[in-house]
Amino acid sequence: MSTFRARERPIPHPEAPLIATKRPSPHGPELITRELPGPRARAIVERDHRAISASYTRAYPLAMSHGRGALLWDVDGNRFLDFTAGIAVGASGHSHPRVVKAIREQAGRFLHMSGTDFYYDMEVRLGERITKLVPGPGPKQAFFSNSGTEAVEAAMKLVRYQTKRPLFVAFYGAFHGRTMGSLALTASKAVQRRGFAPQTPQSTHVPFADCKRCVFNLKFPSCEFACVSFIEDYVFAKHTPPEDVAAIFVEPIQGEGGYVTPPPGYFERLRKLCDKYGILLVVDEVQSGMGRTGKWFAIEHWNVKPDVVTIAKGIASGMPLGITVASKDLMSWPPGSHGNTFGGNPVSCAAALATIDLIEEQLLENTRKVGAFMAKELEAMVARHRMLGWVNGMGLMLAVEVVEPGTSHGDHDRRDEIIQACFERGLLTLGAGPSAVRISPPLTLTRAQAQVGLEILDEAVGAVESRGKRGRPGNGAKRRVG
Ligand code: PLP
Repeated sequence: MSTFRARERPIPHPEAPLIATKRPSPHGPELITRELPGPRARAIVERDHRAISASYTRAYPLAMSHGRGALLWDVDGNRFLDFTAGIAVGASGHSHPRVVKAIREQAGRFLHMSGTDFYYDMEVRLGERITKLVPGPGPKQAFFSNSGTEAVEAAMKLVRYQTKRPLFVAFYGAFHGRTMGSLALTASKAVQRRGFAPQTPQSTHVPFADCKRCVFNLKFPSCEFACVSFIEDYVFAKHTPPEDVAAIFVEPIQGEGGYVTPPPGYFERLRKLCDKYGILLVVDEVQSGMGRTGKWFAIEHWNVKPDVVTIAKGIASGMPLGITVASKDLMSWPPGSHGNTFGGNPVSCAAALATIDLIEEQLLENTRKVGAFMAKELEAMVARHRMLGWVNGMGLMLAVEVVEPGTSHGDHDRRDEIIQACFERGLLTLGAGPSAVRISPPLTLTRAQAQVGLEILDEAVGAVESRGKRGRPGNGAKRRVG
């Protein structure tokens, strides 16, 4: 994500009357202030700029008051439709009553007792539940932390410890976190690494199976997985000895990289390559896991068994929690070799157990149905707009690429303009990769909400398209909304 550098440019506000107010529907937005942000949100944004780190990336000035499901209200009373779920987190939607009840009940009992040092039932129950859901043979064990990056850090330490090998392989476009260990695997945007060298753990990056923008300029399937052969024939042969590689870290669908989805057969090849050289396969499901793609874990779409799985984001509907799952054999590291104070917080575990129930009972099914509907509608939208290139992703992890018409070159600026135009109409979206609009709503999204949101997206794309290149703000042209 990028864009809203509010410190550097004025907070945008529409010149025309707000469009979404013309068609309030119970399934969609209702904007009641003349401008966005409204006065209360504006005040919060201004205070934020004084008190909060400048490193955060805010696409637009949304200041939330409260939410229900896929709808949320800002502090001025504007109602928004949320296609972000707080960046692919809120699996059960905002403040699902069953998740809130579980949190309240656990909070009334105790808030913390450090799962690293003591025992409590909530953590054990979640450990039992999650290890059964994660794909892969044999009994598994879970290590608890608080975030995606910590889940990845634990995986990095575990695979190094067990293989006694120093090196990692990861992919261009990958995002595995921003702490000093996981940052060495992340190669999504240079800004995330600029100024932070040297990266401590040694990792080699290789091209991902991005068939729409193949770095080898080949086409699938005639390419015969040149991107996998490249790892063996070039990287292993000339630079990174495979017997020194502890693990390959990979996202089944690259999240921050743009929801890039590899073709069938890709992960099978990667698994074979790992097995040939005794390398472990770590699948980062922080964004793609917990039902987001219509299966518990996205790697199941390729039917491949990973050695280690990392989980966070959707697992606890917004409460902080990270989990690293591996086979019992692999997780056999001695007491004291890894741990933390807050990991597996009992309130987060309670939220996770309630979330898992909801995913199992309703949300997997809903994600498949509403996701299929949205993918079809998005394909039709791509056919209508020359500046839309293609649809990526699965389930409710979808993205639409904004391109320079007739090419596969991403158009970063117009993507940002579309996200802005959606916000001005009451639809919350975010970017993914350099040029995709990310659609990662709560898994509770109804078909009616999906329809309203897609109509707004369509209208926003149309508005940006009709402005044309020369009409872009900053080019001296008057900005029109709608
Ligand atoms: N791994 C993946 C695939 C992610 O998408 C993210 C966050 O976007 C992370 C790891 C890092 O998670 P966190 O931001 O919770 O540290």
